[in-house]
Amino acid sequence: MNKTKIWLSSPHMGGTERDFVNEAFDTNWVAPLGPNVNNFEVDIQEYLKEDVHVAALSSGTAALHLGLILLGVTAGDEVICQSMTFSASANPIVYQGATPVFVDSEEDTWNICPIHLETAIKDRIAKGKKPKAIVAVHLYGMPFKVDEITAISKKYDIPILEDSAESFGSEYKGRKCGTFGAISILSFNGNKIITTSGGGALISKDKEIRDKAIFLATQARDDAPHYQHSHIGYNYRLSNISAGIGRGQMQVLQKHVGYRQDMNAFYKKIFKDIKGATVFVEPSSDYVSNHWLSCVVINSNEASFTTEELRLALLEENIESRPLWKPMHMQPVFKESPFYGTHVAQSLFENGLCLPSGSNLTNEDRVRLTNVIQKFL
Ligand SMILES: *Cc1c(COP(=O)(O)O)cnc(C)c1O
Repeated sequence: MNKTKIWLSSPHMGGTERDFVNEAFDTNWVAPLGPNVNNFEVDIQEYLKEDVHVAALSSGTAALHLGLILLGVTAGDEVICQSMTFSASANPIVYQGATPVFVDSEEDTWNICPIHLETAIKDRIAKGKKPKAIVAVHLYGMPFKVDEITAISKKYDIPILEDSAESFGSEYKGRKCGTFGAISILSFNGNKIITTSGGGALISKDKEIRDKAIFLATQARDDAPHYQHSHIGYNYRLSNISAGIGRGQMQVLQKHVGYRQDMNAFYKKIFKDIKGATVFVEPSSDYVSNHWLSCVVINSNEASFTTEELRLALLEENIESRPLWKPMHMQPVFKESPFYGTHVAQSLFENGLCLPSGSNLTNEDRVRLTNVIQKFL
């Protein structure tokens, strides 16, 4: 039997990436600036529309960190953060000396729950501190409840830092994810929907914010012939080599989103008649997920198997799958942080599984997946 590894999500080159990288070498733009960086930013702006301004950075985490700084988050502040997410959504809050306040998910999109969010804001204000920002995440490519969360953000005048690391290409009511926050971020890590091998972007409709992000990302150098500094700076700019990969990837982004959506349809079909198994799909036509990762939730009361048994059966055949993100309020490192909610995120973590979802999976891979899963079931 063919036992080559089937990955959850692996890099998928379109073909022209190398041309842009070669161009960087040929013109000696081997630096964290250059034509690929500028053109990659323009490509992203044109894709997202809504007149956004983009700063290409070294990672999504760096983008989140600069986003918090630009929203004025400093030591002693509190920042609300969706609990169910990757730790990189929350870590930069701590880099700033601020405290994360975690909020549970709702069941439709698995993202930040509007009801618990408002409870948290009211309670933090009553306790004497108004949160400085709301970190909301479009998990696995599924847009969060944009209208509801935006309404709360406006009502309490607390800006949204939109973590779109997993949702490049997703849409809510016809608008692209990455255009809904006061500041938004993307990630181009190796496992994301497109990759620059490592990289990220900060997005804002406010050009001044983008310009400040680039200033801070390039060591905060004042305008002077010598090295003059009035701010603490960072080395967070994307390299021109990486940006070359990004330009090539932008040419295939929409096609790759389509392949991932096809993978979701594939799993929907496989699990259609399986008792207690639910594949994660859009709650209504307002939502278009890029289906960065397809996920299935197993209701242990109804199903004849557990999530862990399914994971091990796949592993046996050299197929990678993984439990959903373990919520931040359950993580040892964040055990002192406040949490608002019940057990929605926890239950998703305990019963959900991410399935191989790469845009580069072949028909042969799909046959193998079908055989393994059907044999197991
Ligand atoms: C990947 C990811 C990040 C971090 O992006 P990097 O580019 O890896 O630093 C942040 N948030 C979420 C939800 C992610 O999945």
